[in-house]
Amino acid sequence: MSELVSVSDHLARILDAIEPLPVYEQALIETLGLTAAEDVAAPMPLPAFDNSAMDGYAVDAQDVATASEDQPIHLPVVGEIGAGQARLLAMSPGTAVKIMTGAPVPQGCTAVVPYEWTDRGVAQVRITQAPKPGQHIRRAGEDVQTGDLVVSEGTVIGPRHLGLLAAVGKAGVMSRPRPRVVVMSTGSELRDPGVALGHDSVYDANSFMLAAAVKAAGGIAYRVASVPDDAHSFVEALGDQLVRADIVVTSGGVSAGDYDVVKEALSKLGTVWFGGVAMQPGKPQGFGVVGDDETPIFTLPGNPVSAYVSFMTFVLPAIRKLAGRRPFIRPARTARITHGLTSIEGKTQFVRASYDASVATPVGGHGSHLIGDLAESNAFIVLPREVTRVAPGDSVHVVLLDEDV
Ligand code: AMP
Ligand code: MG
Repeated sequence: MSELVSVSDHLARILDAIEPLPVYEQALIETLGLTAAEDVAAPMPLPAFDNSAMDGYAVDAQDVATASEDQPIHLPVVGEIGAGQARLLAMSPGTAVKIMTGAPVPQGCTAVVPYEWTDRGVAQVRITQAPKPGQHIRRAGEDVQTGDLVVSEGTVIGPRHLGLLAAVGKAGVMSRPRPRVVVMSTGSELRDPGVALGHDSVYDANSFMLAAAVKAAGGIAYRVASVPDDAHSFVEALGDQLVRADIVVTSGGVSAGDYDVVKEALSKLGTVWFGGVAMQPGKPQGFGVVGDDETPIFTLPGNPVSAYVSFMTFVLPAIRKLAGRRPFIRPARTARITHGLTSIEGKTQFVRASYDASVATPVGGHGSHLIGDLAESNAFIVLPREVTRVAPGDSVHVVLLDEDV
């Protein structure tokens, strides 16, 4: 039996071979979920100009300093300023100007009297409460100043970043595109959901699951209909897909069976490594490059749980690296395990689990075909190679499957 490669060595080899995608400027609306590839400094302050925080009257605070219910002050209303219409740029002492929220305050205005403190007069306004100097005026630059860092390189752009970038007038951001991932299932027994199954066929779960996992990781997934166990068909289908792939992920056909065509077809190229990784599930793995552009290819085992564990362990970090997203390897957490477990010495064990509030409960059995158990879990407990047993209450490493970090 040939030597097994450790999970960390295999992953290191993969990450060595993957280069982040080139950066380009993308339209702001397209950048949700992308990694910023530049520090964006505010080209302007926010607010951009002094403006009113209320609907009311612009005044000079001195003119109304003594206003009260008993001794109201009356001022002539000499104009009106709405948001987006700043015709009146200055006001004289002893006057008031009607002003709407967000409208620029005219020169000479040192406070805004909200409607609630007035009779809402049109030609003349009756003011019954005195604003403090500066009250109800939003000052230019009080939120963001020109040159402030609004998004730093490496930030995964979210809705609030988009809001801020738009507010400072950025129409685009230098960022890395979404990695394009071709997902292919292999197996003559596979059928698409929605068609009738023969007694010897199974529905193709992997290509749906892996394509969804690609999207969840921020990639673009191209799911290819399953390919039969025939080397010629596989090579042809693969060749057709390379043009749109930053990476290719296949499942099935890499064990030592008679019909393991992925291995059979790609071994001949000499550019794809096939071998065993010291993990359970997910031992048979392949990784290398194919085609003129040397497109990285991951050949994952076919059992759905093995395929998913392999994806989360090897493909996800690669997608993150392509996208410039750090850390490439999502950090594990620690949790208390509720039940005891045994594990084979020399293999990293990935145990399906449900995780909540630092407690991990193993879910279901060991079999790598148990996709029902997989769907019930939200975490893997990862038992390192040297660990052979854990007891209830022990501290274990846990990888959360849906965590967006
Ligand atoms: P293989 O790695 O091709 O030997 O497949 C191992 C097991 O996983 C077999 O029972 C396959 O039928 C099953 N399998 C392979 N690919 C898929 C798939 N895309 N969806 C569901 N089961 C699969
Ligand atoms: Mg197969």
